[in-house]
Amino acid sequence: MNLIPNWLSMRAQLTPDRLALTNGQELWTFLQLDLLVRRLTTRLSRLGINDGSRVAILAESSMPIVAVIHALTRLHAILVPLNPRLMLTDLETMLNDAEPAVVIAPSSKVPSFSHTITIEELWDHLNEEPLADPSFIDLDQIQCLMYTSGTTGQPKGALLSYGNIFYSASFSAIHNGTLASDLWLHVMPLYHIGGLSIIFRSVITGNGIVLLPRFETDEVLEMMSRYPISLMSLVPTMLYRLLSANKPFPTSLRLILLGGAPPAPTLIDEALTRQLPVVQTYGLTETSSQIATQLLHESRIHKNAGHAIYPTDVAILFNHSVTHKPHQTGEIVVKGPTVFQGYWHDPDQTKAVFWHDWLKTGDIGFLDENGYIHVIDRQKDLIIRGGENISPTEIERAFLAHPKVSDAGVLAMEDAEWGQVPLIMLVTTAPITLAECITWAHRHLSAIKRPVKYYHAETLPRTASGKLRRIELRQMWQNGAF
Ligand code: AMP
Ligand code: MG
Repeated sequence: MNLIPNWLSMRAQLTPDRLALTNGQELWTFLQLDLLVRRLTTRLSRLGINDGSRVAILAESSMPIVAVIHALTRLHAILVPLNPRLMLTDLETMLNDAEPAVVIAPSSKVPSFSHTITIEELWDHLNEEPLADPSFIDLDQIQCLMYTSGTTGQPKGALLSYGNIFYSASFSAIHNGTLASDLWLHVMPLYHIGGLSIIFRSVITGNGIVLLPRFETDEVLEMMSRYPISLMSLVPTMLYRLLSANKPFPTSLRLILLGGAPPAPTLIDEALTRQLPVVQTYGLTETSSQIATQLLHESRIHKNAGHAIYPTDVAILFNHSVTHKPHQTGEIVVKGPTVFQGYWHDPDQTKAVFWHDWLKTGDIGFLDENGYIHVIDRQKDLIIRGGENISPTEIERAFLAHPKVSDAGVLAMEDAEWGQVPLIMLVTTAPITLAECITWAHRHLSAIKRPVKYYHAETLPRTASGKLRRIELRQMWQNGAF
């Protein structure tokens, strides 16, 4: 046991009248949020939810859902956030794996799961007395069972402790600094760590959230014009869409955290040209979000993921040993208080993801002489052409720099002579000829990295955290979609 007082109750005492949450219509202060959460806690405990109960939430972001998440913290229940947009079969795989005691879903989305309660039902009967007792958080206890995005196979349930979440929120706030006036624009899904972590961080650091259920460019722009937003967390696709809208960003904006997937250098260049405070950040579900984040002044000079967030240690696993030596490329490994507790029900996968006490990220990269972390690609995505490793991300980046290309996806194709060769799907903003593509490849990529085939695509399959779904892209290609 490693107890600390409940963070929301602490916040309600420290800054009761400060804005905690708004969706543009309703507004709750931290005191109001705490009161609602304590009433919800009574309600949920009467449903039998208590210490260690797993509770799945199947919903887009909303103020009631955020309150439910905080209520689960008070009950010491385990949150299992699921993507409501998943196909029913995928959802059922996860529900069967997580075996939650209760599923909370909007009435439109109730799966055929026996213990489902709708958010409306919970909310409409919220006449319980608020709990009066102080509550404690045990940093050693599991807070959340979160499924990783699974672009490379079966989704795995990562177990995150309260300590993981607490240290991640606190140290990332220290790393980039906080102001009492900071206000988040929250558009990341709550079933990804990048979105969920902001919910806790907001309470721990006392910074309000303008919450949107999903990313819609127009709505995001509207919220940016209405509120003095200072912090945003975006995946590259979102930033691309916002920049394409060509509208002004608020002058209050202090930091745009950009991560979840490798950003194209051209995207960062454009953001910087427009004087936007964009910083790259790199993290995983298994590290409770950020491992490394640039400081603002660094993003103007370097294209990398920044320094590790103290006290997390980042190194490279190469030839069966861990090194901090600069410019040694290998698997990025991580050690520290935000590293997760293992995969749910899966000791083999858990064992496989550690090298002694280092978490293996599955990402290939290196540290430079300044200690900056450079992420090259996912190990599983590397294309091996005649024995040489090629990073599909590097090829995609080269094409994303073409003025007519808005998205790019590279796949490996089996080849009798080379083993594997790259092919590329391009989404373009204007017609592009094959000759133009080939010329571009000759100018920007060494011979081995040049695609052998080019396809035009209307759009590419991406996850809510901005990652290319290569498995789906491959299936589309095999089915002749391009
Ligand atoms: P997830 O498994 O959904 O938690 O996503 C984590 C993965 O996203 C990492 O292992 C990386 O492959 C990728 N990723 C996250 N941030 C970045 C970044 N800034 N640059 C490159 N890849 C990233
Ligand atoms: Mg992963």
